[in-house]
Amino acid sequence: MTEKSTTTDAGIPAASDEHSLTAGPDGPILLQDHYLIQKMAQFNRERIPERVVHAKGGGAHGFFEASGEATQWCKAEFLAKGVCTPVFARFSTVAGELGSADTARDPRGFALKFYTSQGNYDMVGNNTPVFFIRDPQKFQDFIHSQKRRADTHLRDNNMQWDFWTLSPESAHQVTWLMGDRGTPKTWRNMNGYSSHTYMWVNGGGERFWVKYHFKTDQGIECFTDAEAKAMTAEDPDFHIRDLHHAIASGDHPSWTLNMQVMGFEEAADYRFNPFDLTKVWPHADYPLHPVGRLVLDRNPENYFAEVEQAAFEPANMVPGIGPSPDKMLLGRLFSYPDTHRHRIGSNYLQLPINQPKSAVNSYNKDGSMRYSNPPDPVYAPNSYGGPKADPAFAEPSWQVQGEIVRAAYSLHAEDDDFTQAGNLWRNVLDDAARKRLVNNIAGHLRGGVVEPVLHRALDYWRQVDGDLGMEVAKEMGIAAETVS
Ligand code: NDP
Repeated sequence: MTEKSTTTDAGIPAASDEHSLTAGPDGPILLQDHYLIQKMAQFNRERIPERVVHAKGGGAHGFFEASGEATQWCKAEFLAKGVCTPVFARFSTVAGELGSADTARDPRGFALKFYTSQGNYDMVGNNTPVFFIRDPQKFQDFIHSQKRRADTHLRDNNMQWDFWTLSPESAHQVTWLMGDRGTPKTWRNMNGYSSHTYMWVNGGGERFWVKYHFKTDQGIECFTDAEAKAMTAEDPDFHIRDLHHAIASGDHPSWTLNMQVMGFEEAADYRFNPFDLTKVWPHADYPLHPVGRLVLDRNPENYFAEVEQAAFEPANMVPGIGPSPDKMLLGRLFSYPDTHRHRIGSNYLQLPINQPKSAVNSYNKDGSMRYSNPPDPVYAPNSYGGPKADPAFAEPSWQVQGEIVRAAYSLHAEDDDFTQAGNLWRNVLDDAARKRLVNNIAGHLRGGVVEPVLHRALDYWRQVDGDLGMEVAKEMGIAAETVS
């Protein structure tokens, strides 16, 4: 035997990597060639289902270092001064498949797993502070409209605009998407936002509503539409490559975590519904408070094991952090672990990338590909000293009342679908960015959007801002007066 012989997966030395076992040199191949059969069978099973959304992505390991400022609002141990917590981050596009281009116009996933001393804390955010919809009932339909048609298996701009214009709550996010931030230059040059509102509870039991902003320390940089399209052709894996090269060369990207913090009682009569995922909290009302720094400093060594099988779930919240009445968040608490059970298997949390670095004392056992089980007794309550739940860790809560209904959120004084999108156009973008936004919208509409969707789209932009609607119509060569 040579020093390092090929083996079967059972560790048995293999006789040849080139020749199948045959009856005579000309065959036939024998069923008893277990080595060949194992290779073929394993190959056939190499793919797990790709993520339905966020399929294409890359990731890196790093750490989060807390400044301690957050402890006034949150008792989570990983936010205490000087605590350094290992982190795994995954960035992704949303709509494309595993082999699709990194530089497509799309929101970017910004998912983080903090391996804290109190269990895993997952922050499953995006590079945008808002989202297209505000009720999880619409999510599946929304994604269907952004992916491929059932008949031709083609993406279809008309389908996308049909959904958006019939869902005016999408206007804020579509403005982001069609603007410069829809094509970030690299993952290192974009921000990450929780988008959702969460609850924080401090050591004294006081409750706060919070939003997370991971601001890039590299500065925001975006591709123009033409640059993004050129890079799609030149290097569809540009973002994965960029992150890998930066880390490999010692240029470790970092983000400063800033928080917006709202007093618990202020939510009820805030001018917007603070839990509506299509809205930001204006900085003038809720300024940003820095609370720590995220650094990525180590590349994965095994893409499949560490990135493809990484499973993030917003339901992973550690003591001191809880959900809010954001309906999208409440829906995601179910849908993420559910998709992991389907995609990876019921014991996905035992894979090294997903395994907490703190003790796991649950009574769950068995199931497909289980690696280890809890010791007996495997039930609670028991008389044999097994772990016991502790009411001190009761989930953060808020009061609810009302009939059981299917209804939109109750309105706050200034709730509407278009004002914040209009503020972005009017108050944040400069002239050059406005021009690019108009061109990007018109270019996308020209890519197959037909009546009645086309006029609805022009009206949609007119409602965001009269000037924007007029500019888009002009760019499309459509008389503005025909837009309602
Ligand atoms: P501010 O002027 O205080 O904040 C505007 C923020 O917009 C900036 O701080 C920056 O935040 C972000 N921004 C800058 N350039 C762009 C761009 N080209 N595309 C998208 N975002 C950009 O105003 P308000 O807080 O009153 O918000 C006004 C509008 O700004 C909102 O309606 C929203 O669309 C957008 N915005 C607001 C954010 C918030 O949390 N309040 C966050 C991001 C955008 P950053 O560095 O975080 O990107």
